[in-house]
Amino acid sequence: MQALLRAYREHGLPFFEGVTLAPYTTLRVGGPARCLVTPKDYQQACLAVDLAFKVGVPVFFLGGGSNLLVRDGGMPGVVVDLKGLNQLRYLGKGLVEAEAGVSLGALLRFCHQKGLSGLEFLAGVPATVGGIVRMNAGAFGYEVKDLLQEVTVWHGGQVETLRAPDLKFVYRCWGGPSGALILKALFLFRPLPPEDIEERLRYFLGRRRDRQPVGEATAGCIFKNPEGIAAGFLLDKIGLKGFTHGRAHFSRKHANFIVTKKGAKAEDVLFLIDKAKEEVMRAFGIELREEVVVVGEA
Ligand SMILES: Cc1cc2nc3c(=O)[nH]c(=O)nc-3n(C[C@H](O)[C@H](O)[C@H](O)COP(=O)(O)OP(=O)(O)OC[C@H]3O[C@@H](n4cnc5c(N)ncnc54)[C@H](O)[C@@H]3O)c2cc1C
Repeated sequence: MQALLRAYREHGLPFFEGVTLAPYTTLRVGGPARCLVTPKDYQQACLAVDLAFKVGVPVFFLGGGSNLLVRDGGMPGVVVDLKGLNQLRYLGKGLVEAEAGVSLGALLRFCHQKGLSGLEFLAGVPATVGGIVRMNAGAFGYEVKDLLQEVTVWHGGQVETLRAPDLKFVYRCWGGPSGALILKALFLFRPLPPEDIEERLRYFLGRRRDRQPVGEATAGCIFKNPEGIAAGFLLDKIGLKGFTHGRAHFSRKHANFIVTKKGAKAEDVLFLIDKAKEEVMRAFGIELREEVVVVGEA
């Protein structure tokens, strides 16, 4: 690690040691990153991962932190915060190129102004472009993969552009190479008058507000939906709505959301996850799988 930090200094890469990751996640829990590197642009991001790759230090990619549960012991390697990769370009004919760190909000505003429709179903989700591609984010029957044309990645020391149809996207996961850094994505939107886009944005935001604990510290749905049934329905049936451990609880509005309060620990959330898995298995014989990405050391 010391050799890598020296190399980061020599190349002028901005980094911080021992940064608590809780404020970088929407669940607001989690321990420190040994090193948090904050590249300012695409070139610096490639350099940061190249240097780590050369010395064999593990890297983790951080987007909006909206689907992340970092354990209390934190992250031993390098965490690459991608929010500096924030360039957006309209290429014409409905095609928009967005770098990985562009926030979903910025992308939706850009598309709204240009009269480009397609991603409104994710309005209100505090994610980045890299995160929605990596997770194949979806809602209300739509998925990110349906709009994707290409993804440019850094993988094993090389940068390459992958065609979206060649990637085997599945429910809440892309099919790209494991360990790849998503650098930018090319989306194809359809033309729609801005006032109609605004109506769609309002419609989807309204549906979210009706069903989800908007404005609280959560990571969206904690579990994936098992085949043919909603995880939230199962959790509600066994009476977990409102169930609390420490400073975390299952939302009373939507049982598949865990909400944390100030002072919560990752341990509180992990306890609730284990409890839900055990009880759903006991009651229905169904194995729940986490949608939230759990990382770090206990
Ligand atoms: C209020 C709320 C509502 C939500 N609603 C939805 C919803 O409707 N549908 C849905 O699918 N999800 C939803 N989520 C979950 C979350 O927003 C999505 O999973 C989103 O795609 C995560 O994006 P992110 O940028 O925050 O990624 P992060 O949480 O930072 O990371 C998630 C994973 O993606 C990886 N990653 C991030 N960026 C990159 C990159 N550039 N290259 C490679 N890997 C990368 C990370 O390493 C990690 O494994 C919601 C979350 C919240 C808090």
